[in-house]
Amino acid sequence: MHRVVVLGGGYAGLACLIELSKMDKSLELHLLDADTDHCKITNLHKTFQHPLEKFTVSYAELAKKFHFTFHQHRLDFSEQDLARWQLQQKLPLPQAELPFDWLVVATGASPIQLHAGSGSFGQKELRRGQGKALLENLLETGSVEPLQLSLVGGGATGVQMLFELHEQLRIKRVPYKLRLIDQNQRLVPSLPEGAHKYIAKKLRRAGIDYLPGTNYLGQTDTEIQLTELATKHKLSLPSQQTLLFPGVSAAPFALETNAHGQVMSEGRMLENILSAGDCSSFDSSGLNSLTAQAAVRKGKLVARNIVRLRGGEKPQTYRYHEKGYLVSLGALDAIGWIGLRCNLVKGFPASVIKDGMETQYDLFLKGVDTYLDFL
Ligand SMILES: Cc1cc2nc3c(=O)[nH]c(=O)nc-3n(C[C@H](O)[C@H](O)[C@H](O)COP(=O)(O)OP(=O)(O)OC[C@H]3O[C@@H](n4cnc5c(N)ncnc54)[C@H](O)[C@@H]3O)c2cc1C
Repeated sequence: MHRVVVLGGGYAGLACLIELSKMDKSLELHLLDADTDHCKITNLHKTFQHPLEKFTVSYAELAKKFHFTFHQHRLDFSEQDLARWQLQQKLPLPQAELPFDWLVVATGASPIQLHAGSGSFGQKELRRGQGKALLENLLETGSVEPLQLSLVGGGATGVQMLFELHEQLRIKRVPYKLRLIDQNQRLVPSLPEGAHKYIAKKLRRAGIDYLPGTNYLGQTDTEIQLTELATKHKLSLPSQQTLLFPGVSAAPFALETNAHGQVMSEGRMLENILSAGDCSSFDSSGLNSLTAQAAVRKGKLVARNIVRLRGGEKPQTYRYHEKGYLVSLGALDAIGWIGLRCNLVKGFPASVIKDGMETQYDLFLKGVDTYLDFL
């Protein structure tokens, strides 16, 4: 019996395991992940309002459903480790070594580290389920004195967080002032220009200060320190809390793969080691962005290629092209594009489509695959 080990049970790792469990019942499947639960991190902005558990599924439950063995273990590695694992075809686990015929590395991405300071908060804290507690603290402080809050990062994640927080504070009617700080001159640069204009207008209407071309330096108990990039002028503004969402980078490093997902190391292909998701960069025309839709498609492709390679068939090339991208702007609003980048969708209809995408992934984890266009 051939054994496949997947390292990292995020969107890519699970897509790979689910596909393999359906395609080839004779394979022995294993998952290694540092956590006990899979987190649907595209919903993290909702955890200011809802408990994190609403967006997690235990690996034990998934293992039962998709017939794999789960090992809770964090396995850190370097490029040299990968080359050694290819030679030995086994992984070092605390109890015993775990031999593999195929290894899929899907360790995702980590938040970019900025100087944290005392009153700062970011993706890691949300992932630990601290979103609701943060909101409750803010509401308590806001009942005594007006809140001054800053959010760093005008990319998709930062903007989603900002509007969710704005909505929650507005509903609770505490006095607050929010500001958005971003190095770039344009919001969510991955979206068309029209999206920037739509979001900038919404910021003005909501009374949120927007500071483009501004660098975050640090945060004390009461102030945030910034630099205006054009003038190099340094300034401090009142801020009790800073939320840091400056983006993510491949973790532990970007793994270059060939067009089929096999890892390349120092110009050499590691035949039995493949990669998928945010940590992988495929050498093909397919979508390499750090998004859930690319992660799921890469995970599924890599699974198919393992089955093909095992059967002596030629592996498939990764050719998935983005079908759209939407950013949520609170419960009833979103912005993005569908089909063609010039086809901008916004407002409530966009929000409904965005919710539909989350439902599609929920169904996927229940075993109902509606991602028909994975290539
Ligand atoms: C707040 C937020 C909102 C987002 N919203 C969207 C969105 O709306 N649409 C969209 O398309 N994308 C969105 N993204 C991006 C999307 O979530 C990622 O592209 C996607 O999660 C990548 O999947 P992945 O499987 O590569 O990595 P992940 O989902 O991050 O999974 C990696 C897994 O590997 C495990 N792991 C890591 N290192 C190790 C190790 N050394 N040993 C063991 N286990 C390890 C982790 O515990 C984790 O379970 C968002 C991201 C964030 C942070």
